[in-house]
Amino acid sequence: MESRRLDYKDGKQMIRVIPKKGEAMGTCATFNRKYICCLVQVLRSVHNCPFECSYCFLQNYLNDGATKSVSDVDALMDEVRARIGREPEKLFRIGTWELGDSLALEEETGQAAKLILAFAGLKNAVLELKTKSCCVDPIIDVDHRGKTVVSWSLNTRHIIRTEEHRTATLEKRLQAMSRTAQAGYLIGLHFDPMILHEGWQAEYKALVQQVFQAVPPDNVAWISIGSLRFNPEMKRKMENNYPDSRLTCAEIVLGDDAKMRYVKPLRVSMYRHILAALKQHISKEILIYLCMERWDVWDKVFGCHPDSPEQLDYLFAESLYQRFGLGGGPPEREFYNEISTTSSFPTPGLFHNL
Ligand code: SF4
Repeated sequence: MESRRLDYKDGKQMIRVIPKKGEAMGTCATFNRKYICCLVQVLRSVHNCPFECSYCFLQNYLNDGATKSVSDVDALMDEVRARIGREPEKLFRIGTWELGDSLALEEETGQAAKLILAFAGLKNAVLELKTKSCCVDPIIDVDHRGKTVVSWSLNTRHIIRTEEHRTATLEKRLQAMSRTAQAGYLIGLHFDPMILHEGWQAEYKALVQQVFQAVPPDNVAWISIGSLRFNPEMKRKMENNYPDSRLTCAEIVLGDDAKMRYVKPLRVSMYRHILAALKQHISKEILIYLCMERWDVWDKVFGCHPDSPEQLDYLFAESLYQRFGLGGGPPEREFYNEISTTSSFPTPGLFHNL
């Protein structure tokens, strides 16, 4: 096994299988009190990714770009069980996608299948596998017992072709999603990052339509919407790594979390546009949320906002219990940490309906 440090791009060429070292579970690295975060937990079981998205934050994040997969799933699960065992009344959502793609390496590692089996026996946790791949063969027949959400990051054909290099085409992602839904898995949809390009309105509307031709809304556990964001220091790396990308040419502003984004009116207009398209296909019960946006943007898009990340975490649990019986019983708000005293959010789980 080679041990020298590799740069981000060279590191994508080979997989190193590594033992678990230190804590692997924690809160999503983008958590920031100035934004409404969903409080998903992450399990850092992969590091780097064979795909090449021009906007990928890993090019600015990884000290060692080697692609690594933690082989010791039992040790990962020991940590998960200990963590969720400390708060048995709470439903945890735990994703393996923070530092890579949850399924892109599955043919080689078999890690996700082992995690799915292990999560099938947990009462108060749901596994989220998020991918831009079509690598579902190894997981289709796993006995998941409804405890795993397989999510796709989705974008228009133009963005997949020009900015998400080496990922599966939209057609392949949708075929894989359809097969996964037929195998009884819950599906997560992430329209993120939305990116401006010629004809974006029609393209994102068509994307939503194609998604719901592939998957029944009843299988959809949650939907997130977000837009392009990156650290200012990443701009140079993006331009060096992906000189044909036009992403850094857009009019972008610096947010409180030190990330560049499109200006707010533009983001709001993009979110409203895709929300209107989604509403044509889905029931009111599906939880839709914004990723890394502030209260005022939520208000402009949904007409309301959760009081806190903790409340949003609770709303996930409530929606997942009501729709799929997950968590074993109705969640109680007091177990989702601090309780806000003011509520501007009258009807849990129905952001798109308000
Ligand atoms: S799929 Fe995700 S982790 Fe992989 S290159 Fe793209 S943004 Fe990065």
